Amino acid sequence: MRALVLERVGELSLREIDLPQEVGPDDVRIRLHTVGVCGSDVHYYTHGRIGDFIVNEPMVLGHEAAGTIIEVGSSVTHLKPGDRVCMEPGIPDPRSRASRLGIYNVDPAVTFWATPPVHGVLTPETVHPAAFTYKLPDNVTFAEGAMVEPFAVGMQAASRARITPGDTAVVTGCGTIGIMVALAALAGGCSRVFISDLSDTKLDLAQTYDGITGINLRQTDIVSAIDEATNGWGADIVFECSGAPAAVRDLFRIVRPGGTVVLVGLPPEPVPVDIAAACARECRIETVFRYANVFDRALALIAAGKVDLKPLISDSYTFDQSIKAFERAAEGRPDDVKLQILMDGEAI
Ligand code: ZN
Repeated sequence: MRALVLERVGELSLREIDLPQEVGPDDVRIRLHTVGVCGSDVHYYTHGRIGDFIVNEPMVLGHEAAGTIIEVGSSVTHLKPGDRVCMEPGIPDPRSRASRLGIYNVDPAVTFWATPPVHGVLTPETVHPAAFTYKLPDNVTFAEGAMVEPFAVGMQAASRARITPGDTAVVTGCGTIGIMVALAALAGGCSRVFISDLSDTKLDLAQTYDGITGINLRQTDIVSAIDEATNGWGADIVFECSGAPAAVRDLFRIVRPGGTVVLVGLPPEPVPVDIAAACARECRIETVFRYANVFDRALALIAAGKVDLKPLISDSYTFDQSIKAFERAAEGRPDDVKLQILMDGEAI
């Protein structure tokens, strides 16, 4: 089948490749419609690795996907051909201890699209477990369906935070994931979200949403800004989404006593943490790795109009132009949030 293949660092090609195509009793076959370009896909393209995951063999990219069911396995009852769906790209071992605990995202045996050595879905068709395939509500487009995967990280962060209605949140880092976290925090009951970054372009985009206030770290000290906004009390929840050592340093100076810090961003190197400051506030520290059990709730929020992801789609490319899409994503233009690839060339 034709696919966008990462051959090695910096080299992509559109070519035929053998991919497993057998539909088991619990699987569905999907014709891909829209696939988002993720920061992780781009990182594999530009660096050939993320931590211990190294691209040693050619790998098909793409894991943020929506499409249409074209075949269902003999045991599948909740989906049928013609259904529009989005897919959760991590497939755990359902018998694993982590799966039985409901934390299947941290199952050591999980296989995840476009994470070496597992192929992604920038290809016309794929086969996937029906249990990790979700029907799109009628008013949710394929483009939005392909945004559910990155939004799921925000959903996981908001769930881990255990938001109380009216909470004030801070999100450090206004990249795609930072914005997703901010939107999930607002949908989850936060009254306002402050989001920090060095780029006005990114902050301006985030601030088009009601409830989000940008803090540009080039001009403003985040500790005093949050101090002022909360009468010296601090934020109820701080989501770290930048992975930047400087942001980690300030976390425990902007969270309120007894507040919650949620670690989402992955620093490239280990960073020092001010444990004494964390203890002095007796704050709760939560961590996030991908997501579990959030796709249904993410779709429900989008369908209900409580979360609008459409403004975050910066541009779309056809499958034939997908290498161009990756080259643009690798440039890292500050006003690009999400680029998408339309597998059959038509919008909607
Ligand atoms: Zn992604």
